[in-house]
Amino acid sequence: MGEVYKNVVCPFCGCLCDDLEVVVENGKVVSTKNACPISKTKFLDHSKDRAKPQVRKDGKLIEVSMEEAINKAAQILKESEFPLIYGLSSTESDAQRLAVELAEFIGGSIDSTASTCHGPTIVAAQGCGAVKCTLGEVKNRADLVIFWGCNPAEAHIRHSVRYSVTPQGMYVRGKKERFIVHVDVRETRTSRMADMFVKVEPGKDYELLSALRAVIKGYEVGDVAGVPAEMIKQLAERMKGCRFGIIFFGMGLTMSSGKHMNIDAALRLVRDLNDHTKFTITPMRGHFNVAGAGEVLTWITGYPFAVNFSRGYPNYNPGEFSAVDLLFRGECDAALILASDPVAHFPIGASQHLAKIPTVVIDPKVSLTSLIAEVVIPCAIAGIESEGTAYRMDGVPLRLRKVVDSPYPTDREILEGILRRMKGC
Ligand code: SF4
Repeated sequence: MGEVYKNVVCPFCGCLCDDLEVVVENGKVVSTKNACPISKTKFLDHSKDRAKPQVRKDGKLIEVSMEEAINKAAQILKESEFPLIYGLSSTESDAQRLAVELAEFIGGSIDSTASTCHGPTIVAAQGCGAVKCTLGEVKNRADLVIFWGCNPAEAHIRHSVRYSVTPQGMYVRGKKERFIVHVDVRETRTSRMADMFVKVEPGKDYELLSALRAVIKGYEVGDVAGVPAEMIKQLAERMKGCRFGIIFFGMGLTMSSGKHMNIDAALRLVRDLNDHTKFTITPMRGHFNVAGAGEVLTWITGYPFAVNFSRGYPNYNPGEFSAVDLLFRGECDAALILASDPVAHFPIGASQHLAKIPTVVIDPKVSLTSLIAEVVIPCAIAGIESEGTAYRMDGVPLRLRKVVDSPYPTDREILEGILRRMKGC
């Protein structure tokens, strides 16, 4: 029997499950307990597909020393006039802090993966505020749980058992005392655990949210967004009549037609419901520390994503300084990608520009972005090979643990190395 680590926090999705047991033998994770299949794979395969320090020479990525890779990264950023730092979401918050310091030092733009997932959530909350709560409160109190435009049964696998559907809470004892609603454009595995499925026409969430607000305020409505009037009335009554309600929402709401206006309507619906009962709302954040990226950027610059330092002070403008837009318009001449894989997710035009400019990738694993990079710097896996802080989807910070040694330095150490070289010390 190897060494057993208890209460390990899972560094994969925004649930940050903190009850994992990890067994390590001869410097490798050999088994896990309580981990979902995605988490299990992340821990057990931590040593597979590792990136190597590489620099592109004559069009080919050639293996070099860490020293040479970090020197080259510093040189690229030094020579750049409009650099971009992007990613941040799959690393710990001290590394995120150093990425912001680097962006300020080089006068570049910095953006996190939030700009392609819950950026509209942040923009909407800045406009009208949000009634929030912790996942612990959901477990202990929520008797009505609505999943809107998300599929936790497949994307946040333990969310339902730890926080929202089946756990025994202090005041709500398990599934039989909770009513689960799923609102989406199609049935998924999440619909199967719901007591009510509401099928909304694609791109019509804003209309349905507005109809619910109207009914809650006492107005009559007809069928809206493909949902029968009777069903809208029933859902509105359930929302008003519960003791503690919560809407968990995903990219089905943030990235469909209406974007931040959908979220604005959802936040206002929740605000209206608080005239009748206790109701809250929480985004289903994807990457394990995307919430932390927003926290760190906000406590340093005042802004949560899409920040530019070219005037010597932070400027915030999603659509202008968000990574996809900067790349699509060809407005940056070098990029540092930290803890994310934009080539796997960005529109082709943005990825093409990334392939044209000198791009530095800091990542523990080989990724699509590392294949187009000018410099690849491998790092320790945050939460497995290095410790640090991460913020759960509800904003609660948790301490990630180191359970095995890494052959590579941490993100933090690499960023410190780049900064040291750029400052000439
Ligand atoms: S639900 Fe998310 S945080 Fe929890 S074990 Fe699975 S991947 Fe990890």
